[in-house]
Amino acid sequence: MKRLDGKRFAGIILNDLARRVEHWRQIKGRVPGLGILRAGDDPAGRMYVENKIKRAEQIGLKVFYRNLSENDEQALVRAVEDFNGHPDIDGFIVQLPLPAGWNTRSILEKIDPAKDADGFHPLNLGRLLTDDFDLMPATPAGISELLRHYKIPVAGKHVVIAGRSRIVGRPLAAVLAGRHPGGNATVTLLHSHTPEPEEYIHRADIFVSAVGIPHRWKAEMFKPGAVAVDVGINTLPGGKITGDIDPQGLEKVLSAYTPVPGGVGPMTVAMLLRNTLYLFEKRVAGKE
Ligand code: NAP
Repeated sequence: MKRLDGKRFAGIILNDLARRVEHWRQIKGRVPGLGILRAGDDPAGRMYVENKIKRAEQIGLKVFYRNLSENDEQALVRAVEDFNGHPDIDGFIVQLPLPAGWNTRSILEKIDPAKDADGFHPLNLGRLLTDDFDLMPATPAGISELLRHYKIPVAGKHVVIAGRSRIVGRPLAAVLAGRHPGGNATVTLLHSHTPEPEEYIHRADIFVSAVGIPHRWKAEMFKPGAVAVDVGINTLPGGKITGDIDPQGLEKVLSAYTPVPGGVGPMTVAMLLRNTLYLFEKRVAGKE
């Protein structure tokens, strides 16, 4: 079983991005700016944000970070408007999930689509359905790149995705089923109303899980030779991070598998930074 090493591949991508950032610093005297907005202080969100800041600074981006109170939704709206107009911020994200009861859709819709580094604005998500898209959300982009890097064919394959969130499952279905290189798969999307998901999983050439349930899927559910991509990041009692797929016995069944941690997670961060550089390059090119 091949280990799809997202950590290693993300490192290669980050080195390449760092070279491009340095190039722009030399010829324009400025580097891309990444904004990060977060509300509240849940430890998982803090860990994700700290990691994004660390990697962004490592490749030379300028980071603008604001952590707002979980009691003031309007302060987040004002910060989004501020970042939209900020001349040194080329792309920014609002770290999800937002505090319970906040209007995530309305806040994401306030982001300027030209600065939408996560690609979650409805305009950018909608463009994914047109085969003429600009920007892919980071996790689907990371999965697509990882499959391409390891020469795992997607076209004509049956891909089964468990989970239909707006940030992973649904945009990934659009990317893999789209009419473009890296697409042309036949995609089945499972969710919590799917009776007997195993019926679909055992027919998948490529299975992707983004359900957020530790060890929900077991080796015996897969077709021999299948590829499994585990997006889940679950914290077990005691603090250990694990995926949605139970690693026990996988090597006897699968041909390839993304480990957790070290698989999709680092690719997601690398793709966010790549999106930021892309938005910067579009702005710089647009001004010339
Ligand atoms: P989410 O919003 O938590 O939604 C989970 C999805 O799984 C829902 O669509 C739900 O169906 C579906 N689901 C739940 N139980 C299921 C079952 N038994 N069979 C089939 N589908 C089922 O999803 P998310 O935000 O995409 O996060 C999912 C996981 O990925 C989490 O562990 C998260 O931490 C992780 N994640 C990792 C990365 C990364 O970079 N590695 C990035 C983002 C998220 P309904 O729609 O019917 O409720």
